Parts: sequence; structure tokens; C-alpha cells
Amino acid sequence: MTEPTLGAVLDLSDTIVALATPPGRGALAIVRLSGPAAHDIARAALDRWPEQPRAARVSVVRDSLGEAVDEAVVLRYDAPASFTGEHAVELMTHGGAVVPTTVLAALIARGARLARPGEFTRRAVLNGKLDILQAEATGDLVSASSHAAQRAALRQLDGGLSRRVLALRDDLIALEALIAYDIDFPEEDDGPIAPARISAAADAVVGALDRLLATARAGELVREGALVVLAGAPNVGKSSLFNAILGQARAIVTDIPGTTRDAIEAIVDTPTIPLRLVDTAGLRQAVDPVERIGVEVSESYLERASLVLLCADSAETLAAAATTIAERTRAPLVVARTKSDLAPVSDEALAADLRATGARAAVAISAESGAGLEALVQTVVKVIVESGGEIDLDAPVLTQERHRFAVATAFAEASAFRDVWTAGEVPAPVAAVHLRTAVQALEDLVGRVDVEEILDEVFRRFCVGK
Ligand code: GDP
Repeated sequence: MTEPTLGAVLDLSDTIVALATPPGRGALAIVRLSGPAAHDIARAALDRWPEQPRAARVSVVRDSLGEAVDEAVVLRYDAPASFTGEHAVELMTHGGAVVPTTVLAALIARGARLARPGEFTRRAVLNGKLDILQAEATGDLVSASSHAAQRAALRQLDGGLSRRVLALRDDLIALEALIAYDIDFPEEDDGPIAPARISAAADAVVGALDRLLATARAGELVREGALVVLAGAPNVGKSSLFNAILGQARAIVTDIPGTTRDAIEAIVDTPTIPLRLVDTAGLRQAVDPVERIGVEVSESYLERASLVLLCADSAETLAAAATTIAERTRAPLVVARTKSDLAPVSDEALAADLRATGARAAVAISAESGAGLEALVQTVVKVIVESGGEIDLDAPVLTQERHRFAVATAFAEASAFRDVWTAGEVPAPVAAVHLRTAVQALEDLVGRVDVEEILDEVFRRFCVGK
């Protein structure tokens, strides 16, 4: 078999069909059809055709020999008011291993082609229904493995990130328009726009790009989860706490191979951000080789942690571990006072723990009774979010490396423009190249390029004195 060529994939004259639901047993399945002949093909296979777009109609579906294969609910969409922007039909068929496939076959027999992966979304992009960021969000939404990832993808699908990126692109274009006069009349000392005003506009856009770039950290938290490392002396109850949190929360334990002295990791899905909870071996002075491996794992985790949960069952065990751990991490600390069912922990004791360790918070918990576990998880999330500077998890965030790279490029280029412009060392057309590159980076990110739009803007502003 040969690989499909790009041309074939991009060919919008085909009508494509696919099963939109996973194969296998289920009450219902959805067969989706899109393309110029979608209506004709579906109509030929149906006894009844929906008179109105977006209104459901029940109909028998027939194969190419005229034999009934199912009774389905049919929805018709008229271009451009559909997901893909083309004529489209959705058939809600009965589920299972056979029915959806025979419905699919009936439509292929009448001229539809089986869609390639992502082809419906690709058509939506080509027809201007979604931009690339939104298309990406569709994929992220389907594969979201935490509530935070789901919310971030929904916000991106809504176009929030695209709007922010395009607003920044417009600011850069406005800046290009401001220096257009200088490009045309380089010999004149005083153009209509004061150089200081251009510098101020450049400062503003560089600052805004920097703030957008800073959201990549929130994006990383959403995607990867925040690394929370349990640390403390042996036998203080770390493993019990780990298991108790997992027992309460919706968690997936990942298999990190190794001995009992190695680390185990689990994802705890909190409503705000997913936590990657890691239980490492105690920080006892390592003597035997197996234990040493455990300590080394602890240290490598401690260096990368978003937060370290300092576990201790008394002021003494806390003191024993606190210094060693604090030396090995830059992450904020939260004290978990364990085994609170054995001896109640007073507020004074918790306050003393904070003073002794410099931790952000101290929470008394019992793995045995479950007391304090929820408060501990909430505290951990709060400290992580707060320690990230101004991260706002409800604003659009850069969730992918591709996003970060594009915005970092735009930021670097806009900064370079500001610097050379302020220094006045290079002619305006040369400085403008930096702006053009920055605009290009943002347009590539969103997947929209319209040179006409830029020229319009430039000339609209330029006309003043010319
Ligand atoms: P680790 O070495 O720090 O991982 O400690 P473990 O989780 O293995 O616990 C050490 C001992 O303390 C075990 O015997 C546990 O049963 C006990 N333990 C841990 N958590 C609690 C708790 O919340 N209450 C009580 N009563 N005992 C606990």
C-alpha cells in the first residue's frame, strides 16, 4: 500500500464518511458524512429524508441492493452551517459490531470514501470553521485525561487563546503601520509619529507577549501535572498517606518499576490541576546499595518537584528530615503531620512546625481515619498555584510546546525590534523585519495568514499625509 499523498488528503471534492464513535458493543453509534455529495448519497440510502436542516428524522437505511440494514435517526446539515463547513449528514444508528459497519458500507457503495484520521477537523480548518489552535483543542479534548486538561481544551476550542494571539498580532501590525512613514521618508528627521511613542507601543506589546509566554507554566501543569514528592524519615507514614490519598481521590497508579525502595507515582485528578504524587524512599543515611538507589531517586525527584510534602509524625521526626530535604529542593514545602489519630496535633504544634521548617502550610492528617486528607490536597493545590507567580488557570494558556515556541519567537523578535529601534542604530526597514517575523510566528500558531489585511492596515494609517 502506498501512503496517501497530501493532495489526496486535501481534496475537498470527495465526500467522506466515518464512524464517529468507538467500535464495539454499545446502544448507539454515529456515522458521519461530509462533502459536496453528502446529501445525495445519504438520500439514496434512506427511505425518509429530513425536510429541514438540523431537525432529526427517523428513517430506514438501505444497502446498495435495497435491503434494510438499520433504522436510524438522521440529521442533515446544510453548508456552510456544519462542523466541516460542507454539506453533512449524521446518522445515529444502532450500535454493536455489525450495524454501524453495514451502514458505513451502504454509504461507501453509493460514492462516499472512508475518511482518514482527523479529516473532518482538517476540513473544518480548510473551510475556515476552526483555526489550527481550535483544531488542536478538539484533539486535546478527546484525549483529555484530567479535569484541568478538559477545561483548558474547552477554553482553547472556544477560541480564547486564538483571540489573544490575534490581538497581539494586531498590535504588532499596528506597530508596523506606525513606522511605515519612516520607511517611506527616511531622510526626514521628524515623521508624523514621535519615536518615543513607537518605543512605548513596542514596550507594551513586548510586555503582553511576555505575559502570554508565562502561561506556558500553567499549560505545563495542566498537561503534565504538578510533581508532588512525599519526603520524610522512614516509618512516619508516607506510604500510608500516599495510599490513603489515592483511596480517596480519583487516581491512576502508574507502574514505575523498581524495588520497594524505589519511587511509585500516581496521578491525582483535582478539579484545578492534576497532581503527580510520588512516594520515595526515606532520606535515611544510605548504607546498603538497595537503599542508596532509593535515596538517589528521592534526590532527583526533590530537585524537580513543584512541591514537597514534608511528612512527620512528631516534631522530632520533622526536625530530622526538614534540613536534609530543604537543602535538596527549591520547591515550596507543606508539612503533613501524620498519624493524628494516635495523638491529636494542636494548632500551636502546627504553627511551631511552620516556624521550624519555613513551610507554606502545615496540615494534620490520619491515613488511618482519613481526617485532614481532603484539606491537605486542597492546600497542596493552592500552594502550587500561588507559587507560580501570576498563573491564572481560567485564562487562555499555552498548552503545547508548539505554542510556547511560537510565542517565544514573537517575544524575542519584538524585543529585538524594540532594542534596535530605541538605539536608533539601524534603518527602519531593517528594524521592521523583526516585527514581520514576530507577526509571522503568531500567524503560524493560529494558522491564519492574510497579507491583504496587513497591507490594508498599513495603508489606511499611512494615507494621512501622503
Ligand atoms: P513510611 O516508611 O514513611 O512509608 O511509613 P509507612 O506508611 O510504611 O508507615 C509506618 C507505620 O506507621 C506503619 O506501621 C503504618 O501502619 C503506621 N501508620 C501510618 N500512617 C498511620 C496513621 O495515620 N495512623 C496510625 N495509627 N498508624 C499509621
